[in-house]
Amino acid sequence: MAFDQHGRTVDYLRISVTDRCNLRCRYCMPEEGVPAKQHGGILSLEEIYRFVRVAAGEGFKRIRLTGGEPLVRLGIEDLVAQLHEIPQIESIAMTTNGILLPKMAAKLREAGLSRVNISLDTLDPEQYHYITRWGNIQDVFNGIDVALELGFNPVKVNAVVVRSLNQDLLAFARMSIDRPLHVRFIEYMPVGDNCGSEGLGWTPEDTIPNEELIALINQKAEESGLGSLEPIIKRNETPDGWGPARYYHFKGAAGTVGFISALSRHFCAECNRLRLTVDGELLPCLFSDRFFDVKTALRSGSDEAVRQILLEALSSKPDEHHHKVGTEHYMNQIGG
Ligand code: SAM
Ligand code: SF4
Repeated sequence: MAFDQHGRTVDYLRISVTDRCNLRCRYCMPEEGVPAKQHGGILSLEEIYRFVRVAAGEGFKRIRLTGGEPLVRLGIEDLVAQLHEIPQIESIAMTTNGILLPKMAAKLREAGLSRVNISLDTLDPEQYHYITRWGNIQDVFNGIDVALELGFNPVKVNAVVVRSLNQDLLAFARMSIDRPLHVRFIEYMPVGDNCGSEGLGWTPEDTIPNEELIALINQKAEESGLGSLEPIIKRNETPDGWGPARYYHFKGAAGTVGFISALSRHFCAECNRLRLTVDGELLPCLFSDRFFDVKTALRSGSDEAVRQILLEALSSKPDEHHHKVGTEHYMNQIGG
């Protein structure tokens, strides 16, 4: 089992498989997209597979594929199938905007993908189009339907909450009532430069702390006769999760409502992950300034050299992120 220098078990690897995307969310990417990388600038699928094999030998058991949009990476189904063959890997998940799920979900499920997080920040078609700059919300709704039909478990729907967007939070939370959907609210984070003046920018006021968010939702839920969200205390009643969300539910609901607060409530003490960026750098923390060059080790070294880089990254995990604002990498390179 892999431990870091602070005694935390680290067995969860998040991998950004591409920095490309079929959307342009204003808080994540500039409208023109990302500059084309030189040939060889990003890890090949074979290199990703090799890295995971080495990491599995060090106790990593759970993999999340993210991006950019992981479904636009050619050959992604083959990568899932290969990772699924690694004996120590217990579970493979994906974070996706859901647009291509109707076309690709069946093949991915067959290849061994078992869990999906679908990102959707609003239920309003016009607002969705505005946030993503050109997305059609019906594609995401279809993606959610397909994910549930095919038995992905859990199916989580993640919404980044930005105060100035004035999203309808109760409408969102209500999605957890009729179907086993796990709706999660994510605090808006100062990652990359949040696309400067063309994007949404990031200001501290735009991040709604989770406690305030819960109170806002409860107030509206009570006004509409729904009753308040109840905290879920028993671990076995929360969706099987690897992360730091706190879960609640409406009485009798099929799903849950989760809150993830990287800023207002540090969950660093429970941090169990490393992140591999699209260009082959290992990040000990989302807010890291230090990264570890896996790509060079993969291309010029033995598995042992790769393993040494992994161990170095592991032993450099900070105790916490100390409220840093802005990061060297953009969110689409890191994968959230
Ligand atoms: N394209 C996929 C998607 O949107 O799900 C995967 C990559 S995306 C970078 C991963 C997650 O990061 C998404 O849920 C997205 O909403 C979230 N995200 C992007 N920028 C963020 C920010 N500044 N603060 C909080 N979450 C952010
Ligand atoms: Fe693309 Fe996901 Fe970033 Fe939106 S959040 S631009 S869908 S990578």
